[in-house]
Amino acid sequence: MDGSLSFPVATPPAPGETVPIAPGVYWLRMRLPFALNHINLWLLEDGPGWTIVDCGYALDETRDSWERIFAERLVGQPVQRIIVTHYHPDHMGLAAWLAERWNAPLWTTEKEWLHARMMAQDVGEASAAARRDFAHRAGLDAEASTVFAERQGNYRRGVPAVPESYRRIGDGSKIEIGGREWRVIIGEGHAPEHACLYCAEAGVLIAGDQILPRISPNISVQTYEPDGDPLARYLASLKKLRAALPPDILVLPSHNLPFYGVHERIDELAAHHGARCDDVIAACIRPTSAAELLPVLFRRVLDRHQVGFALGEALAHLHYLEGQGAVERDMDQDGVHRFATM
Ligand SMILES: [Zn+2]
Repeated sequence: MDGSLSFPVATPPAPGETVPIAPGVYWLRMRLPFALNHINLWLLEDGPGWTIVDCGYALDETRDSWERIFAERLVGQPVQRIIVTHYHPDHMGLAAWLAERWNAPLWTTEKEWLHARMMAQDVGEASAAARRDFAHRAGLDAEASTVFAERQGNYRRGVPAVPESYRRIGDGSKIEIGGREWRVIIGEGHAPEHACLYCAEAGVLIAGDQILPRISPNISVQTYEPDGDPLARYLASLKKLRAALPPDILVLPSHNLPFYGVHERIDELAAHHGARCDDVIAACIRPTSAAELLPVLFRRVLDRHQVGFALGEALAHLHYLEGQGAVERDMDQDGVHRFATM
């Protein structure tokens, strides 16, 4: 799938190590306790100090890796700022710990900060019940719905705390880092107001999870917005990014390897969703729930973590096609939503 991309550095840094990847930018990698087992983070030279972009999931070994980097890489200069691309736990996870460790401010977008704060509070039985209802509506049985609700309610495991305050960045914000200007480009669909950071002078995009080279970013309907259409937002964001970015930049993604070929990858991602939509339309000749779509969309056995992502992703395609007028929704007597072509 990535034949049109090129990867300038084939070997990622081990946890606790750093690799210079672009002018003033170091690549770090931390472990994740999932099938997707790593995240890339970035350390930027910033005058008499450093800016960190994304934080890692809250694991003791990730704190240890950070401490090793602080001891070996920072040459005695402080971390002055922590930028977080979006609220997901592998990105926001250690933000509060880092902010306290360095007495440094968190910079992020308004919706990402609000989402992180909301998810960290979202631990009551009422929201667990809403998540079970969401899974039931999508066609999971009672046991699977309970597993889904518990897993989705687990935000605080990866994000024990979210800073009490933040500095807002938004679409078009200009941030000076180490004498270079970085511009914020907002993407939607994967997260509500995901910040990508583009430095024209260095020819580099810190893409977060908005554009990934080997996997398709998760685009999921969320339990707190059960009728949402995130795929429409994501596809619109891909168009916007393609128009804003020159073709020859180096893309620094949060997972897999840095790559060249941003336009090709954007086109592949759009084509991927187009093909999945075709599969969904073919399956919907008879009324089909999101749960019944999983074997159509994902031709591998899914673990429980992946079922959560997959269910939201199946719904995203169904809602998108409903918005396009390609399928219609009906509810059966058990309250399960099924979609069919007209
Ligand atoms: Zn993410």
